[in-house]
Amino acid sequence: MVDRTPLCFRCHAQLAVKRVNELSAGFEARTFQCQRCDHHLVVVASSSDPMDSLENRLTSR
Ligand SMILES: [Zn+2]
Repeated sequence: MVDRTPLCFRCHAQLAVKRVNELSAGFEARTFQCQRCDHHLVVVASSSDPMDSLENRLTSR
């Protein structure tokens, strides 16, 4: 399991995982929080292939 979190879109600090909510149909909502500027980011990812979805979200911004 790779422990990677996205970077803050405002200040580019590493975001910390605040919580993970299980959704229906194999998806989960991951809430990240920036320790520096308190920016929040919610990423909905497939729990079966979470890193792929996360990378797609990041590169699409
Ligand atoms: Zn930030």
